[in-house]
Amino acid sequence: MSLSEKISTSIKMNVAKRKLESRKIDHRDGNPLEQWGVNKIKNEIKNNKELKQLFNPEELSRENIKDYKLIKFRELLNYVMENSSYYKDVFEKEGIDPSQIESYDDLAKIPLTNPEDLAAKPYHFLCIPRKKIVREFTSSGTTGIRKMIAYSQDEILEIVDAIISALKMLEMDSKDDTLHIMYPTITATWDPGVILGKACMLAGVKSVINDSESVEEQINTILESGSTHIIGLSSFVHKLSMEAKNIDGIKDIGIRKIICSSEPLTEEMRADIESVWGCEALRQWGMTELGLANAIECSQQNGFHVDNPDFLIEIVDPVTREILPPGVEGELVITTLRRKCMPLIRYSTRDFTSILDEPCKCGALLDQRITDIKRMPK
Ligand SMILES: [Zn+2]
Repeated sequence: MSLSEKISTSIKMNVAKRKLESRKIDHRDGNPLEQWGVNKIKNEIKNNKELKQLFNPEELSRENIKDYKLIKFRELLNYVMENSSYYKDVFEKEGIDPSQIESYDDLAKIPLTNPEDLAAKPYHFLCIPRKKIVREFTSSGTTGIRKMIAYSQDEILEIVDAIISALKMLEMDSKDDTLHIMYPTITATWDPGVILGKACMLAGVKSVINDSESVEEQINTILESGSTHIIGLSSFVHKLSMEAKNIDGIKDIGIRKIICSSEPLTEEMRADIESVWGCEALRQWGMTELGLANAIECSQQNGFHVDNPDFLIEIVDPVTREILPPGVEGELVITTLRRKCMPLIRYSTRDFTSILDEPCKCGALLDQRITDIKRMPK
């Protein structure tokens, strides 16, 4: 890299850092991931006359957050009806009037967006001029349906910001911490390892990316790098752990948390992994369409904290499409409340879970969580 390139990268990094809400997180104020989301909501209320009349940003309750999200949902409906040719067509045909969405029960009046709809006409979902797109990602994910999703610069930064908050929740915020990232390189355009590596750089922690599928090579890199945290696909982390259990002193090398990502992790697999490394193994969930880093367990291992305030989450009956109450398992349906490039309304994830509508013992008092995620049978 030439000197001028180095200077330009450094300026870009400093500009990006200044925009990060995650910089303001204070561990004494509760769960970092929840703090990040709630601070974003607070800022918006403070800067919006109408919202300020409805909510006191300094004393937000769980009910306030739900009401706020409903307002954002209505706003988003108006926005997509003006800007996305897909939603304009569908909602006009259905006679949708955003002002009629007054309660969570009313959400059922809005049709679900299916992965097939997104795959068939990706650019019809676009709400901003194509020249403002900075990244387009394609993925077949777990549904096997190839989809494209586009993001603006600010949205990529928001995703990175959310990841940094999650890293803080995992107690990664010092230059002595190193995240060992071991996703296989994805030849499609969305590489989780690269995005995570960038988040680590902005968070001021080290990362080591190794895309090798060789368990032996990964273990050698972990031993050499002084890593404190490991992230990888659940099945691979399990395979790696089963291999590592025969290494003398593996519990003492300083791994503090292991994040099992993108695939279901059974309690048996979790117990195997934890007994090898002598630390917590936590589940993480995300979808390319939603920005990948969407939900993660805290040390309580009791439900996933979702990246609020980005998402409005619902659970629906997979057959009748009826909205189900908290505690009842069904299909996870997500609306991307803050996205401006390609927002998704009531997106059918084809993953199974339920809503946990209660405070978490980690100190997250306001956000809803979701229970363990299972794949829906195809
Ligand atoms: Zn928690």
